[in-house]
Amino acid sequence: VNSRAEPFISGLNEPQREAVLTTEGPVLMLAGAGTGKTAALTARLAHLVASRRAWPSEILCVTFTNKAAREMRERVGQLIGPAVEGMPWLGTFHAIAARMLRKHAELAGLQSNYTIIDTDDQIRLLKQLITGNDIDEKRFPARQLAGLIDRWKNRGLLPGDLDAVENEAYANGKGEQMYRLYQDRMKALNACDFGDLLLHTVTILKRHPDVLSEYRRKFKYIMVDEYQDTNTVQYLWLRLLAESKGEAGHNICVVGDDDQSIYSWRGAEVANILRFERDFPGAKIIKLEQNYRSTPQILAAASTLIGANSERLGKTLWTEKDAGDRLRVIGVWDGPEEARRVGDEAESLMRQGIRLADAAILVRAQHQTREFEDRFIQIGLNYRIVGGFRFYERAEIRDALAYLRVIAQPSDDLAFERIYNSPKRGLGQKTLEKMHRHARATGLPLAAAALDICDTDELPARARNTLLQLMRQFAHWRDEARTLAPAELMRQVLDESGYTEALQAEKTPEANGRLENLSELARAMEEYETLGAFLEHVSLVMDNDSADDADTITIMTMHAAKGLEFDHVFLPGWEEGVFPSQRAIDEGGLKSLEEERRLAYVAITRARKRCTIMHAANRRIYGQWTSSIPSRFVEELPEDMIDMESTMTGGASLWRANFSEREDPFAHVAAAQPARTMTRGPGFRRASSGDYDPAPKRIRETHRSAASFAAKPRTDIAIG
Ligand code: ATP
Ligand code: MG
Repeated sequence: VNSRAEPFISGLNEPQREAVLTTEGPVLMLAGAGTGKTAALTARLAHLVASRRAWPSEILCVTFTNKAAREMRERVGQLIGPAVEGMPWLGTFHAIAARMLRKHAELAGLQSNYTIIDTDDQIRLLKQLITGNDIDEKRFPARQLAGLIDRWKNRGLLPGDLDAVENEAYANGKGEQMYRLYQDRMKALNACDFGDLLLHTVTILKRHPDVLSEYRRKFKYIMVDEYQDTNTVQYLWLRLLAESKGEAGHNICVVGDDDQSIYSWRGAEVANILRFERDFPGAKIIKLEQNYRSTPQILAAASTLIGANSERLGKTLWTEKDAGDRLRVIGVWDGPEEARRVGDEAESLMRQGIRLADAAILVRAQHQTREFEDRFIQIGLNYRIVGGFRFYERAEIRDALAYLRVIAQPSDDLAFERIYNSPKRGLGQKTLEKMHRHARATGLPLAAAALDICDTDELPARARNTLLQLMRQFAHWRDEARTLAPAELMRQVLDESGYTEALQAEKTPEANGRLENLSELARAMEEYETLGAFLEHVSLVMDNDSADDADTITIMTMHAAKGLEFDHVFLPGWEEGVFPSQRAIDEGGLKSLEEERRLAYVAITRARKRCTIMHAANRRIYGQWTSSIPSRFVEELPEDMIDMESTMTGGASLWRANFSEREDPFAHVAAAQPARTMTRGPGFRRASSGDYDPAPKRIRETHRSAASFAAKPRTDIAIG
């Protein structure tokens, strides 16, 4: 091959080139953040096509997100021109599996026009099955079962594969039965959930050798980005397709970074990358060590931090980039100040002619976006939330707001319709139709008609009682609204309506996220004296959609930012209990804390030029100001790579000045513990960067584990 003929290869460094040109046999590219793994994979794809080793349709290439697939497609197009006719097998695991399943649906008992159902439909279906089997849905909620089924599917388990423990996990030993019923029902409906896409495909490949060998022949090359976050079923699927069993093939190239494995909560198994060599004997292992993304300071900080993890292979990273700014660690007083500060910084970037699109705010949990959204709307700064909804558009927030709207405005029909049966109280579509008919006939708003219809015999007794009970609750809440503070009212409404309880019963990570969002909503409401004022604020916020082509700052979770890069990265909320999350701390195990630390590594290494970490001294939790401790990850950063800054050095008078126009919200905090909260400064212990020499450009990472994996015998990698 004449690599000089392919300009996209000449721009690569030596190991990258090796990864591109080693087209035959298994290849593992294992390297740290920003070393050009994805870039090399993209060039490899281009090279395979340009050198006519394979048609685009003969290459299977898996990315972690649809966005990444789109970018790779565009990039390959740029590299080798329009000669590439689409790449049908470039996409996420889900997208590719869905495509395969369409072709062989009948082998999974489906028709090729099967529908992919969303979580709402899934929950509705499960609920029918649960109540139909005399299981108490209150004790064993549909969402809990949905979470279990998802977990089983991620692990490639069919109903018959569940062991006793798994079976016990739902409704005292009904796990397998309900899973089986659900799968049967889905087939009858000609439907699939997301987990099925891979599970069905794997099952087909296992049971139909002819189909398997068809695909093995078809895919001459298989490539996977972010391999460290594959789960078991994805792994099985890849192995089936890539194993040669005497046929030609075996050309699988995976890239990843064990330090960036952050999806174990969704079933990802970092062990998959660690045992690649054993699965594919003779695999060529390629390490990339030069980082092209970040400044030496950012790299040193990230490397030192991740060095505190014990379960890692360890790597060497260096950069030729010129020294840049140190990382900043800014201590602020509280959440609102944090949001104000980031807003100010963003405006200052704009004044310097920097595009907002080059900046991102990465948060640990979805609910953290709220304070930034409120602030940015206030100052007219365009933002977008990636990988999630804007705070006030999330389902649980809309539900809570709907309750409040009905309380404030009894004729708000849309709001009433949204929550009359949320949480589920057994009022179905029929009841709604009757209420609507009654409303039309009497000219009453829906909620009033609901009360009125209870005086008639139009509804069956059970529905009538339930509805009457709900209307009494609304009357009671309307009463309370006169005296209670809005936030307090909302908590009461969510508790008394059973909304909170329903979420708590789910016991899923999603439900916990929803509960956190609701606490965050309460926090937002605490700034308002009347319900009316708060609802008005929300409608203004909801109305504030920035134009599609506007230059926007990105807000997203650290998880969603994987693989991406930004010149300027803001990392707010680095406090114990926020990041690392309280759950990780409570679980206490090394495993969850090390995963949080990997997340911190991912977050810092998204930054190209500047990384700003923030922590607040106080957070308001359910109306209580609690003082928080800076994250242990802040302490683990190397002292000589960071600038510490605190806005609290001016003492009480300075920060109080900020609140001159309204009531001092900290009065009770200050009164309770004046000395401690006011003098809190940045004086905590920090790690030193030890082996780092700030002067030279080459940076060598320190390892807690003995040596870099290059120095270890290769068999060390093949654990698991
Ligand atoms: P992550 O682990 O975060 O996914 P990665 O290893 O996939 O990172 P890339 O995103 O491929 O890294 O590359 C990081 C940056 O370095 C990109 O901006 C890319 O364009 C640039 N880059 C990659 N390889 C080279 C190279 N050989 N020369 C110059 N720049 C490069
Ligand atoms: Mg990448």
